[in-house]
Amino acid sequence: MLTKAPKGTKDMLPDEAYKWHYIEKAFADVCETYGFREMRTPVFEHTELFQRGVGDTTDIVQKEMYSFQDYGKRNITLKPEGTSPVVRAFVEHKLYAGPQPAKFYYNIPCFRYEKPQSGRLREFHQFGVETFGTDDMMADAEIISLASDFLTAMGITDIELRINSVGCPECRKKHREALKEFLKPKYDELCDTCRDRYDRNPMRILDCKSPVCQKLVQGAPLMLDYLCDDCRNAFEELKANLTAMGIAFTVDPNIVRGLDYYTKTAFEFVTDSIGAQGTVCGGGRYDHLVEEIGGPATPGVGFGLGKERLLLTMEACGADIPEPDGADVFIAFMGEEAKEAGLGLMRELRQKGLKVQMDIMGRNIKNQFKYANRINAKKTVVIGQDELENDSFAIKDMETSEQVTVPMARIVDELLG
Ligand code: ATP
Ligand code: MG
Repeated sequence: MLTKAPKGTKDMLPDEAYKWHYIEKAFADVCETYGFREMRTPVFEHTELFQRGVGDTTDIVQKEMYSFQDYGKRNITLKPEGTSPVVRAFVEHKLYAGPQPAKFYYNIPCFRYEKPQSGRLREFHQFGVETFGTDDMMADAEIISLASDFLTAMGITDIELRINSVGCPECRKKHREALKEFLKPKYDELCDTCRDRYDRNPMRILDCKSPVCQKLVQGAPLMLDYLCDDCRNAFEELKANLTAMGIAFTVDPNIVRGLDYYTKTAFEFVTDSIGAQGTVCGGGRYDHLVEEIGGPATPGVGFGLGKERLLLTMEACGADIPEPDGADVFIAFMGEEAKEAGLGLMRELRQKGLKVQMDIMGRNIKNQFKYANRINAKKTVVIGQDELENDSFAIKDMETSEQVTVPMARIVDELLG
């Protein structure tokens, strides 16, 4: 127990952390290019926020949340997703009174009690964006374009954009009845969860991962065939905007984001290259969520993008993530006086931004060189009695083994080169 991380969590060791830095910087860059600004919200929120914001009928709220009561008897939940907290902050800080559209991005840990497998963890991480204040399909196309540009910049080639419309509460009513009618004779064969969904939110049955349910919903009435004029026009407009931007897509009528507050656009970026958990990014429009959470009626649209699945896909595509350099300089020394000179030099070089290491293990000079090789130092400075007496240090290029002797006064400039 003591030496094992909890099930479904993963340590991120330095050999992996640099990859995370890489994708995080790239995501922030793309978001800033698109005019999105970062928002950070707490790791935990009031449980009620997710009950409202994600919806009581969803898997997340019904069985996946890490919820507890704190010592003040507040019901608290570790955030299972990123949209509700951003909506909460948008309302709390009255950001709807500021310039619209309001565009945010985030980079967060999420917690869901799920069955861990490749690409499915209990603590995982997401990038996301949200746009508030407009129901224009240019906003939907904009975030899809952002996701697409980011995935391309990350070297992902093998991924498909699928889009759908889940309609609005008005047109969904008719579809809901048709769907229930279709599923009625199959009710007994549905899985436990889907039998429960049948009355509460039958559209979610379309999204069930159980192969039995997936078979049962084949041929089910499609939301696309039930769209009202407004929703159909919006969907046509979205497709036209994507086409105008040169973004390829396929219409997949089975994509649902079956929450009551989700409206119109639903989309996913899906890959075959990482096995069953192939949805790297999922998003959609939520024109009633801000109101549901207590703000003024404000349309919104956003997506969440799983960082673990992103990295798995990048690996599968052979995407290149540049490894950070090792040390620029290793200072090898012999004797107490050399150590003092080395410490001074190391501090000065570090303050000037060079990556500098010096032995702190009491190694002899031969082993210091061995270590310099192991950490991939580019150059080694040697300081010994002779060097101190001659007021000059030797700099060895570790790749070419070339050695130059430089007067002490010029050593910093030479190394900064
Ligand atoms: P799935 O259908 O795979 O369960 P989801 O619809 O529950 O996904 P969202 O809530 O839309 O997922 O979250 C957005 C993204 O976060 C997903 O597309 C995926 O990349 C990632 N994600 C979701 N759940 C997990 C998890 N348990 N572990 C790792 N990544 C996850
Ligand atoms: Mg899920």
